[in-house]
Amino acid sequence: MKDMNLENIPENLKDKIIPDYSGDVVYECIGCGKEFSIDQFLYTCPECNCLLRLNDRNFAALKMISGRDWQRIFSFRRMLNIEALKGIFLYKEILFSTIPLEDVIYLGEGHTPIVRANPDLQKIVGMPFWVKNDGLNPSASFKDRGMASAISYINHSIKSRDLKDVLGICASTGDTSAAAALYLSYLDKSVVKSVVLLPKGKVTPQQLSQPLGSGATVIEIPGVFDDCMKIVEELAENYQVCLLNSKNPVRIMGQKSYAYEVAQQLDFQVKDLVVVVPVGNAGNVTAVMEGFLDLYRLEIISALPVILTVQSSHANPVYTWRETGTYTPMKVKPSVAQAAMIGDPVSFPKVKKLVAEHYREMFLSVELEETDIMEGMLEANRHGHVVCTQGGESIAGLKKAVARGLVSRNQTVIVDSTSHQLKFSNFQDMYFNSTFPGEYQVTTKKNFLNQPVGLAASSEDIAEYLKLKKK
Ligand SMILES: *Cc1c(COP(=O)(O)O)cnc(C)c1O
Ligand SMILES: [Zn+2]
Repeated sequence: MKDMNLENIPENLKDKIIPDYSGDVVYECIGCGKEFSIDQFLYTCPECNCLLRLNDRNFAALKMISGRDWQRIFSFRRMLNIEALKGIFLYKEILFSTIPLEDVIYLGEGHTPIVRANPDLQKIVGMPFWVKNDGLNPSASFKDRGMASAISYINHSIKSRDLKDVLGICASTGDTSAAAALYLSYLDKSVVKSVVLLPKGKVTPQQLSQPLGSGATVIEIPGVFDDCMKIVEELAENYQVCLLNSKNPVRIMGQKSYAYEVAQQLDFQVKDLVVVVPVGNAGNVTAVMEGFLDLYRLEIISALPVILTVQSSHANPVYTWRETGTYTPMKVKPSVAQAAMIGDPVSFPKVKKLVAEHYREMFLSVELEETDIMEGMLEANRHGHVVCTQGGESIAGLKKAVARGLVSRNQTVIVDSTSHQLKFSNFQDMYFNSTFPGEYQVTTKKNFLNQPVGLAASSEDIAEYLKLKKK
């Protein structure tokens, strides 16, 4: 153990600060319950075609350590100067315990800050809350969490199984491809190739620049995300590729770190917690729910949080399911929450199961109009935050939930801002220039508009324009 003051660590925990636990992680089908070895790339059950999750068959052994001691272990571990433990693998035992530390790929992901909402913004929303800014990940979205676990797993597979030829592939609304291309480009290029499939014209220029910059093969096809997803699913079924969408449960593993961090940032006091999550393909909300469940099972937290999901009325299959009890895939309409513009979320069966078995009435859902989403983002960014349209969606969703009495002031609220403001600045441009195509159904308010002012390069002219008073 280097660079660390050992004296503060209780004697009984000293040998646990550096994780040496390796569980027995297998794929487990959420339908038929059969288990399969993770010595192969699998995305659906070979027997019944349902989704897979990763399960540590030794999980019960972790209960030998008390919840309070786990809290201490995770807290002391933050003091270590060991690279592999600086990101999401801080929680290695409950995150993905079979990856050896030397195979972990760490590019600076995770441990994003929670930022107290500006007081005036709290008034607008109707209650205090915190924004967890996941735009501060390396490729500027939470997808880096899942990609860090997926690419560490691929890296470990390449080494332990001596793989010679790996093609990582994903469909994307923009951010998955940015993260996949970034993390894959860190691996040995003679072994690993990277391909991303994007719906042409349905990702922002900034998002498109990311996989191009990382050297991935970028394939654009007509249609929306759901069309791209179908194609990569077919490719994954019939060809030797490694699917990097959140259908791959190794992605979900890393994304659970969001929940672990929220708990740790609140000193593990999560009674009356509400977590607000925008939902697209439903991988993120699945991971958040699974993550809190892990903590609850190990008595690291004493209660599960309320999960408040938010969707646009232009892509709202989860909201509609929650309202009507019936799940129907839908055809999406253009949405400024473009990263969540998905009509048939791949992880929906996982959500349904987690809600039925654990979260029940603690899984809430609201829908928003496109204008609400834009105003949520603009209002937040005018008050010292840097949220994207999906972060704005979360904030506007909280406002709506407060107004409807679904969330109240005595609760603690963490809002997920899933990516960085700059990734979606083209929507801000369209708003400020009044160039939104009609199908978005965004109406603008004058007080939000902002434009550069062209003036002569003269201090007098500028002073006059600003009506400055002479000294
Ligand atoms: C992917 C993404 C979402 C949606 O997450 P899902 O896991 O697909 O539900 C929301 N916001 C941003 C910025 C994203 O990149
Ligand atoms: Zn099965």
